[in-house]
Amino acid sequence: MAKIVRVLYRTLRIAVIVVLVFKVAKARYYADVTICFTPTAETGTPRYLTIHNDGINRPTTCNEINRYHRDSCDMESGIAYHYVVMNDRIYKCRDEHQKGTHVLNGNTANIGICVHGDFNKTRPTLTQQILLIILINKLCYQYDIPKENIRGHKDWEQNNTSCPGDNFDLEGLKKWIITTR
Ligand SMILES: [Zn+2]
Repeated sequence: MAKIVRVLYRTLRIAVIVVLVFKVAKARYYADVTICFTPTAETGTPRYLTIHNDGINRPTTCNEINRYHRDSCDMESGIAYHYVVMNDRIYKCRDEHQKGTHVLNGNTANIGICVHGDFNKTRPTLTQQILLIILINKLCYQYDIPKENIRGHKDWEQNNTSCPGDNFDLEGLKKWIITTR
């Protein structure tokens, strides 16, 4: 009996990996155009990754988020995040060494990754989750970021928010992240 369970489990794992590979092949890793918003101060080698949602339940663009942050949120450098995951793509909005404006009292050496959607109401799509796993793995490898430094916005002290949303399973996602420490 135990052997059957093991075989079934192994088959299920292979099926999941095949689905993931096809999803990744379908998705585009980076957007065609790197979006260059107003540069900000250098902030050193990244040590933290912070995951956000944009809270928007309709199609949007990085340019729209940029305008909103600049004109309505008093952030003169525009879009708060370094990356946005939406439309089956990863958009790079800001150099990783530049200071973002996505966390209260915690933007030093902290890369902000926004996933498009309102995850108090919905969940990230499978493609968004896969792209996020790829992006986080890449950044953790590149900058040797430890797993405990991957946080949700709400995990930062003094940040009174539910971001990236009650339905966003960061701990589940972190099981797919490989770090050296
Ligand atoms: Zn946030």
